[in-house]
Amino acid sequence: MESITLNNGLKMPQLGFGVWQVPDEEATPAVKKALEAGYRSIDTAMIYKNEVGVGKALKESGVPREELFITTKVWNSDHGYDNALKAFDASLDRLGLDYVDLYLVHWPTPKFDQYIDTYKALEKIYQDGRAKAIGVCNFDIEHLERLLSECEVVPVVNQVERHPYFQQQKLHDYCKKHNIVLEAYSPLMNGKDVLNDQTIKAIAEKYRKTPAQVILRWHLQTGVIAIPKSVTPSRIEENFHVFDFELTAEDMEKIAALDKNLRIGAVPNEFHMR
Ligand code: NDP
Repeated sequence: MESITLNNGLKMPQLGFGVWQVPDEEATPAVKKALEAGYRSIDTAMIYKNEVGVGKALKESGVPREELFITTKVWNSDHGYDNALKAFDASLDRLGLDYVDLYLVHWPTPKFDQYIDTYKALEKIYQDGRAKAIGVCNFDIEHLERLLSECEVVPVVNQVERHPYFQQQKLHDYCKKHNIVLEAYSPLMNGKDVLNDQTIKAIAEKYRKTPAQVILRWHLQTGVIAIPKSVTPSRIEENFHVFDFELTAEDMEKIAALDKNLRIGAVPNEFHMR
């Protein structure tokens, strides 16, 4: 497993395991399978309603806590300083942990204009040592600019939608400049079109790998963190076996050329679900 050193010195596995849309009872076997396969980084969130199932898997797996890298997120309805502190306590409780490795603001919800106060609560949690690192999700450049000018702790990551059809190059460049690692969610486009892309398929055949493995390898070689989700044991294994081959510069360029600016998720400035 390759790791990325975050801007506060903490090491984070470059490949993690996501559990969005996994019900609590399915989360336990899925996370246990992922830990058996070798993943150590697990990405959950309060709104996924599976922190209990994830926590159960962590406990039952017997993997020492210090080897794990656990991320969870503060949901939109818990924005504001005091609310975020309370939401964090509740997440820790559900996970059965006394700290998380990474705590993230899930969406900026700019209409409610509370993400600065929310992030300040995360700074407090970080300063108290209850999150080893803090960061954000779904922040566009304008939200990051405001955060960097009004807060003290530079987020370690910005977790955003990213796959070959939606590469977010401008945001990636901005993050690199500010020492924020881009973390790719829906790295396989949530299992949609890109897995059937002809260019990806041709590259996969050449390396005797699957399209998913080629896409994940591309993410890793562009320096981002990727957190694919699967509840299928064979795919959980498949997605982990991406450290035994390397794409050539030419193949990387072919994948770069696939960008269609095609977003499948919500637009950060327009998403205000609570
Ligand atoms: P992914 O891009 O990881 O794709 C998951 C889908 O692809 C599932 O339907 C899965 O099916 C399928 N799949 C997985 N592996 C393979 C494979 N090898 N071959 C074929 N199909 C495959 O989607 P997500 O949207 O779940 O993103 C990953 C994670 O990112 C989430 O789980 C979550 O942790 C995070 N996330 C964060 C967001 C945020 O706002 N911060 C928003 C969205 C996601 P199956 O499970 O049936 O095997």
